[in-house]
Amino acid sequence: MKKIFCHKCGKQIKSSKDLATGFHWVFVKPYHVRCYEFYSPLEIRPFKHGFRGRYELNGGVATFLSPFSGLAGLVFFGLGIFALLSEPLSILSWLSVIFGILLLGLPFARLYSYFKYERWLK
Ligand SMILES: [Zn+2]
Repeated sequence: MKKIFCHKCGKQIKSSKDLATGFHWVFVKPYHVRCYEFYSPLEIRPFKHGFRGRYELNGGVATFLSPFSGLAGLVFFGLGIFALLSEPLSILSWLSVIFGILLLGLPFARLYSYFKYERWLK
């Protein structure tokens, strides 16, 4: 068993029901559900928009969106790379590659959240 500590208050998180993982800048961090509700101005949380507990990374919305985001990311990334090979200076191709990487971030963050934090809690 690995102990998980809240990134905000530093206390141990004991149950998966009390765990809310989320983005802290580009890093995935564990929080208590209550601590997740309040965040400092220095934190950026793409999946937190004021609805209670709905956009945390270990919640239903992120889990549901991950495969679609991953597929779309692969398509954009692949098309962008393909276009770059024939036309290296095309801005649209670079944007496609960057957009693809951003979309691929969600499934990776979702998997990271599971293997790093969620599987240790029951
Ligand atoms: Zn906490």
